[in-house]
Amino acid sequence: MGVEEIVEEVDVVVIGGGIAGLSAALYTARQGLRTVVVSIDVGGQLTYASLIENYPGVEPVKGLDLAMRVQKQAMDFGAQVVIDEVVKLSREGSSFVIETGRGWKFKSLAVIAACGKAPRRLGVDAEERFVGKGLSYCVVCDGPLYRGREVALVSFGEKGVEGLEFLAPLVKKLHYIVPREKDPSIEVAKRFSNVEVYPRYRVVDIYGENRVEAAKIARQNEEKILKVDAVFVEMGFETRIDFLKPYVDINEKGEVVADIYGQTRTPGLFAAGDLASTPYKQAVIAAASGVVAALTAINYVNKLRGISKSIRADWGKKRKAKRSFRL
Ligand SMILES: Cc1cc2nc3c(=O)[nH]c(=O)nc-3n(C[C@H](O)[C@H](O)[C@H](O)COP(=O)(O)OP(=O)(O)OC[C@H]3O[C@@H](n4cnc5c(N)ncnc54)[C@H](O)[C@@H]3O)c2cc1C
Repeated sequence: MGVEEIVEEVDVVVIGGGIAGLSAALYTARQGLRTVVVSIDVGGQLTYASLIENYPGVEPVKGLDLAMRVQKQAMDFGAQVVIDEVVKLSREGSSFVIETGRGWKFKSLAVIAACGKAPRRLGVDAEERFVGKGLSYCVVCDGPLYRGREVALVSFGEKGVEGLEFLAPLVKKLHYIVPREKDPSIEVAKRFSNVEVYPRYRVVDIYGENRVEAAKIARQNEEKILKVDAVFVEMGFETRIDFLKPYVDINEKGEVVADIYGQTRTPGLFAAGDLASTPYKQAVIAAASGVVAALTAINYVNKLRGISKSIRADWGKKRKAKRSFRL
């Protein structure tokens, strides 16, 4: 039987393994609901945060380490984590069907969408191949690896200024590719003798045997090949939630509209974290909104099962979700 024919039945699918999704899974699994987190990666934006110093009660910690701790807590209560991308969401009666890029299919009673924000991509074919192999979306995280080397930075505005000020003193030569003719960051770039500016250019291809060795940049009829060891892309973050759109309202900021209980306009579909219309995009807020969505989801599932008693808090006796399938 091909993997695409497997349908796993669970109680809750959490889409996104950032701190919102992992916190939600910790709660639903602890209440005994069969919970699967499907995520492209573990940690989400926290993996770009070198140090988190403002998470209450936690000594300064690397973003990824904080996420791994929450993942462990969730898994200790029985949540399962599948590294994959959700590409489709549909309804089957009152259940949801969640389909992934690698062919997994999950049927669940509730869905918690916690897909956060992802770095804006270049949109070139070779992109996926070079992520982590010289193509980086985080100057602060990966810049120090390229000390004394020749690299490119694609950015603009405030992010561009930050990227230039971080990278230029570190590297031998910095090619600054800025999509605009005029941008405040260009003036900053001119302060550094090792920075060459390419206004209105964009990256159209990346080359290399196993790692980034060169980038092709272009504007109108002009093309250039830059021999670089790394390409840094700092173009902000975006939500990629087309598959959710038939079931949710989206506000003017591109966020999924959710009420204070994490409910979207579709019963059984909840939203949490940076993806949702919660104010202040911070780790502790994302975690807390994941927990709110989880508690509401638990009540929703219980109600579907005819259990009328709803939980208001979660400091009762702990339970452990039964693992539903073998990965
Ligand atoms: C550089 C940086 C530094 C920061 N520093 C701090 C700080 O010091 N303190 C602080 O409180 N906050 C900080 N933040 C903000 C904080 O990291 C975020 O508010 C928080 O991590 C958001 O969590 P989230 O779970 O909502 O979303 P995200 O972290 O964005 O996680 C979303 C997850 O969903 C996954 N995903 C997306 N689409 C799909 C899909 N279709 N299928 C499956 N999975 C999908 C992603 O891979 C990711 O794992 C920082 C953020 C950045 C970028």
